[in-house]
Amino acid sequence: MQTVQVIVDVPTMQTNRPYTYLVPERLTNQVEAGMRVIVPFGRGHREVQGFVVATGQTESAYQGALKELTALMDLTPVLNPEMLALSKWLADHTYAFWISCLYTMLPNLLKAKTKRLVRVIDEFDPQLQQSLFGEAATLDLAQVQTDPAAMHELVKLKRAGKVQIEYAVEDQARAKQVTALQATLDFEVYEELLATVPKNAKAQQRLLVYLQGLGEQKVPLKAARQQTGLSLATFRLGEQRGWLKKSLVEQLRTPMRQTKGADRPVTLNAEQTAAVTAIQAGIQAPTAPTFLLKGVTGSGKTEVYLRAMAAALANGQTALMLVPEIALTPQMVQRVRGRFGQQVAILHSGLSNGERYDEWRRIQRQEVQVVVGTRSAIFAPLPKLGLIVIDEEHENSYKQEDAPRYHAREVAKWRAQYHHAAVVLGSATPSLESYARAKTGNYHLLTLTHRVNQQPLPPVTVVDMRQEPRQGGESNFSRALLAAVQARLAKGEQSILLLNRRGFSSFMMCRDCGYVLKCPNCDISLTLHLATQNMKCHYCGFEAPIPQRCPHCASRQIRYYGTGTEKVEAELKHRLPAARVIRMDVDTTRRKGQHAKLLQAFGQHQADILLGTQMIAKGLDFPNVTLVGVLNADTGLDLPDFRAGERTFDLLAQVSGRAGRADKAGQVFIQTYNPDNYVIQLAQAGNYEAFFGAEMQLRKQAQYPPYFYTVRLMVAHPEEKAAAKVIHQLARRLQGHLAPETVVLGPTPRAIARIKNQYYYQIVIKYRHDPALHQLLTELQHEIQRDRQLHFAIDPDPQYFM
Ligand code: ADP
Ligand code: ZN
Ligand code: ZN
Repeated sequence: MQTVQVIVDVPTMQTNRPYTYLVPERLTNQVEAGMRVIVPFGRGHREVQGFVVATGQTESAYQGALKELTALMDLTPVLNPEMLALSKWLADHTYAFWISCLYTMLPNLLKAKTKRLVRVIDEFDPQLQQSLFGEAATLDLAQVQTDPAAMHELVKLKRAGKVQIEYAVEDQARAKQVTALQATLDFEVYEELLATVPKNAKAQQRLLVYLQGLGEQKVPLKAARQQTGLSLATFRLGEQRGWLKKSLVEQLRTPMRQTKGADRPVTLNAEQTAAVTAIQAGIQAPTAPTFLLKGVTGSGKTEVYLRAMAAALANGQTALMLVPEIALTPQMVQRVRGRFGQQVAILHSGLSNGERYDEWRRIQRQEVQVVVGTRSAIFAPLPKLGLIVIDEEHENSYKQEDAPRYHAREVAKWRAQYHHAAVVLGSATPSLESYARAKTGNYHLLTLTHRVNQQPLPPVTVVDMRQEPRQGGESNFSRALLAAVQARLAKGEQSILLLNRRGFSSFMMCRDCGYVLKCPNCDISLTLHLATQNMKCHYCGFEAPIPQRCPHCASRQIRYYGTGTEKVEAELKHRLPAARVIRMDVDTTRRKGQHAKLLQAFGQHQADILLGTQMIAKGLDFPNVTLVGVLNADTGLDLPDFRAGERTFDLLAQVSGRAGRADKAGQVFIQTYNPDNYVIQLAQAGNYEAFFGAEMQLRKQAQYPPYFYTVRLMVAHPEEKAAAKVIHQLARRLQGHLAPETVVLGPTPRAIARIKNQYYYQIVIKYRHDPALHQLLTELQHEIQRDRQLHFAIDPDPQYFM
């Protein structure tokens, strides 16, 4: 008897293992690993979806107790053997449910209960077609999936390439409908109406003439407005008078696939050539080397990626490239498309479910050799991978914050091992973890030391905000920065102004001396808790009252720090009334496509100043930008997180690279209350090496990564007591089972102790080498006393600690 191992869609700890099911006679030899099935589950024999993760024969002893699977959901596997193996590793490595990992690898369309249609794509026995499809071209798979004879035939047809499966998006019609208008009257009637409306009612006259010319045609309202220049009110009036009617029409899915003019490879310089040669050798070698490509902004890293990808393709292999955020790197996508054209699939969160599924299917069908995408694109089922590129490898967006809490870099390395592929991590400011590995020879270091255009990096001026006059209220602008912006306005050049708003800026800072209240035990700033009116350390739990005076200089000018982009925009309007400003933050970019629009407008010089949060720091390449101003470098610096310094350095380096990209020289201003801080000073000098050295010292002393690994245990419950009880149980359970060097921080409440009426507590474990830890944590997951409301999560290598 054939059996299969099934992971069922019941995400609990108790059911987080494969269940054995019998394959009914009628489905023998049709079920393969990687297919989805419907199985009866639990005492009630409830029907649930599941994934076949293995097939085999039963030992007859078990046969009696086994249930049979009910139906087959797929005609061919949706997950290949690599993906199945990866899902198992992922579940183990991230302490996630196996089922969550399986779903994470697939496009949403395959997760939801989507209608599956079988479509005839080639001729076959007419009698058989008639019996299965009747006169129709498609067949709803759900209607026949429990019919063994029909399923048997369909699997055979699928294998013979006679039919294919399509997933119909249920909400597609709704999502893609637009309002259209249509003329309701005859030509002559409009003629008569034209004679009756007053001569001075120009808009009405124009509308009537327009409608008269439409005939039967339905025109989207938006297009009609563009064609006529008439207002919505006029169209509404026309509707009220019965001259036209509105209806909804479907707009077809238009995946943005037009290729901008082909991109030509340039002649590589010596450093680029050396990098490409090394990576090429790595691609061909039967090993899985990781390269760290370190090069300042504008040093030609992208060109190296493109050449290396071409090398993989030339070798008969495929290439995968990750970028932190597609919306932030439109230029990168264009260049990959320009180089590889139709061989490229793009995967990112901005796509609709349908578009995403289409792209995934092109990959699955092996129609593309190159995939570019954000974090989850690391699961693109490309066969024969030769190269995985991770651009801006230090970015936090490569770590998923929700389960499964994976880091794309780790998944990349796993896949590289599987395929004997090469991994290239690229950055101007590598993560400390990666650079440390490169220094010890764990990664192969490749460096690009100068900008391609031979322009030096722009000079950086640090402005000491403590020295600014404060009469007439506080300003976000120093005199120097304001003058520099003014000078750009006069010359018709553009400026980028960055307001650093990392996380929530809820810490206290002295405006006179720049002092920030820190934890005496952890050397990490204390967080202001408005609810409890005190200051807390989120690592060790230390608490202190909110100070009335600065403990350092006794000034009373202590303030809760944080300013908004709107406030800055208002001040700009007031101080530079002539300047045209584009504001870019979460509020102005919420709508799909808005981000790209704003950037495009700025690129076309429709504004003089681009004011925004972190989202403007990356990847932008505007030749006319000659000034970059960072309004508040400190915000990120004093967050209660050991990576605060690293993130601030990265941000300052990134944003500085935005100025002087072309032949015009650039200039950078960094406003700060901490001009003596090593991060600010080394960012000013653009000295990554020195920053790395200094930061590594601190990490070593404080026992943080890359010297130690971290893992975080989180508990949440609507009852604070219940959450606290569990976290303390966990803490006790850890005692005596950890390696001597291992450090346990906490338990402590999290920074926002209560989110959505859940109380959060956490423990952070720091360890160097603790072989028993993984097993212990896995056991804890099973042991933990759960009531329905308790959430428990283990987060390996967390990127944020708040
Ligand atoms: P990075 O990714 O390191 O910021 P890019 O790859 O975007 O740098 O290169 C910056 C610019 O220099 C791009 O316009 C690119 O086309 C150009 N470029 C790269 N390499 C060369 C080269 N060898 N010769 C001429 N131009 C180059
Ligand atoms: Zn002070
Ligand atoms: Zn502390």
